[in-house]
Amino acid sequence: EELNVLNKIEPIFLELLEESNINYIVKNLKVAEIYNLAAMSFVKTSFDYPLYTANVVGLGAMRFLEAIRQESPHTKFYQASSSEMFGKVLESPQNEKTSFYPRSPYAISKCFAHFAVLNYREAYDIHASSGMLFNHESPLRGLEFVTRKITSTLARIKNGEEIILELGNLNAQRDWGFAGDYVKAMYLMLQQDKPDDYVISTGETHSIREFLEISADQLGMEITYAGEKENEKIYDQNGKMIGKINPIHYRPTEVDILLGDSTKAKKVLKWKPEYSFEHLVR
Ligand code: GDP
Repeated sequence: EELNVLNKIEPIFLELLEESNINYIVKNLKVAEIYNLAAMSFVKTSFDYPLYTANVVGLGAMRFLEAIRQESPHTKFYQASSSEMFGKVLESPQNEKTSFYPRSPYAISKCFAHFAVLNYREAYDIHASSGMLFNHESPLRGLEFVTRKITSTLARIKNGEEIILELGNLNAQRDWGFAGDYVKAMYLMLQQDKPDDYVISTGETHSIREFLEISADQLGMEITYAGEKENEKIYDQNGKMIGKINPIHYRPTEVDILLGDSTKAKKVLKWKPEYSFEHLVR
């Protein structure tokens, strides 16, 4: 379904992304701040559509920077950089100085955009900042992402629907925060005198399995597992199978563990997340 949608929207997107079009908008609106969150944001799908992903995620950011340089140099720019850039992490926790090791076309493209921001800042004195945001979730998060997939599917099962929760790698670990907290950090970055890069994270990491178990707990369900790897199955307290592993959700290269260090954001932006992990799941 996702791929069908992409096939339909790709030509429209490419047309909208013509440089002249973005220049026209930046020139005529002369906005004070641009927040670039535009992306093909599904890591798994980026393996199937690498060129499209690079065009939107990588070149898309540079098109905005170039339009700002040419048409409106005082417009401030926020780039949504991503913890996926740390990929196969080279140190833990990850901070602004940690080297990148991207593990997907999505992450490669985010690295391109990230360095474009740095270069336009240094070369042209543009107020452009990158927020290296770790996973951030909310009730508005798409159902394709593992958090809402788990909470939504378990709630439907709890309500008596005869469906099975099919997941991929349960052992991956993420530093998950609440999107509302993270949007505040984006805003704060553009209110600073100087543009800069900031890691935005909670400093806690949890596995997909933990997310699943806390979600079940919230619904008064007790889950157990049987089998291993792609044969693993998930059961409720009555012994009914409610979930299983489907390798279709495995990625060709996986990001196993992410854990962010937001010391800089706490100090400079005076930012801190308000939501705990349990609160987020609830
Ligand atoms: P990402 O960190 O931006 O890729 O956010 P996702 O929510 O898509 O994936 C987070 C982690 O959950 C990754 O390590 C996935 O491999 C893992 N995962 C396990 N099962 C699933 C699944 O069914 N769907 C998704 N989207 N991710 C899954």
